[in-house]
Amino acid sequence: MDYTKQIKEIAGKLFSEEKIDVFIGYRNSGFDENQVPVLIHHYQDVDQLVFTEKSVFNLTNYLKYEHTRNKRVGLVVKGCDSRALNLMLTENQVKRENLYIVGIACEGVVDEAGQKAQNCLECVMPDSVVFDEMLGTPSGKREYQVNADIRELDGKELTERLTYFEEVFENCIRCNACRHSCPLCYCDKCCIDQETSTLYHGANTTSSAFHALMTWSLHLAGRCVDCRNCEKACPSHLPLHLLHKQNEKVVYENFQEHQAGMIEGDRGAFYKYSMSDPDDFIM
Ligand code: SF4
Ligand code: SF4
Ligand code: SF4
Ligand code: SF4
Repeated sequence: MDYTKQIKEIAGKLFSEEKIDVFIGYRNSGFDENQVPVLIHHYQDVDQLVFTEKSVFNLTNYLKYEHTRNKRVGLVVKGCDSRALNLMLTENQVKRENLYIVGIACEGVVDEAGQKAQNCLECVMPDSVVFDEMLGTPSGKREYQVNADIRELDGKELTERLTYFEEVFENCIRCNACRHSCPLCYCDKCCIDQETSTLYHGANTTSSAFHALMTWSLHLAGRCVDCRNCEKACPSHLPLHLLHKQNEKVVYENFQEHQAGMIEGDRGAFYKYSMSDPDDFIM
């Protein structure tokens, strides 16, 4: 999967026709084999752009910050990224008319070991679901499968599961990198910020960190698109997907097979309250 040439051409054309103020893409990091996100502001810089199976980050996260807000933005989105973008559009965080979206029919990205990333092996929608032009050949929606780690967890009693989660996440240093790197966490005032939240009174204990993570994951329930931007940002290398994939399964099984961000305008499971909603999964 290499769309470097096409993306340079598209970005160059958008700048020369004065259709965008900024293009969000990927460039080589310059110090290793990896890529990093880049914000291009001028035609003469489009040559920096690349796109391969190492283009791992979800660039829609940059749409929530001041330097792109209310600007005309071009950006590249893979299937999972585009589902986050669909939610940002639905939740009125970005204006569609301000965007030029280069969708990718994604063949999967690689992890640090060079293997296909786990979320790509389980991907339900590799093709961008919202785009102005698409690169690659769409392969269509795939059947949802419960994540292998979650299948294993299902065999544990609730108290065992709680102990397991507490142990797995005990090295959380509460840096909030996970929240900052999630495109769907855009609140100006976040209820889990340790400095500002009245929930914790500034405490940074293991139990407050665990509570904050659980709260965070619940705010993503029915919204998380499994892009794993959060997991890539975590300095403690914590398997945050365990929380999100557990919630994803509960939402899928209990709320009409809901999958986040597939359809523009679909506000998600938590917005569709009904008195007949099941509640036997609640601890
Ligand atoms: S999860 Fe799907 S869309 Fe996202 S990078 Fe992997 S294969 Fe591509
Ligand atoms: S919680 Fe993590 S995996 Fe889910 S959408 Fe946010 S960054 Fe992506
Ligand atoms: S954790 Fe919740 S309150 Fe904080 S930014 Fe995310 S969605 Fe907003
Ligand atoms: S990025 Fe990792 S260490 Fe930092 S708050 Fe999130 S889970 Fe904790």
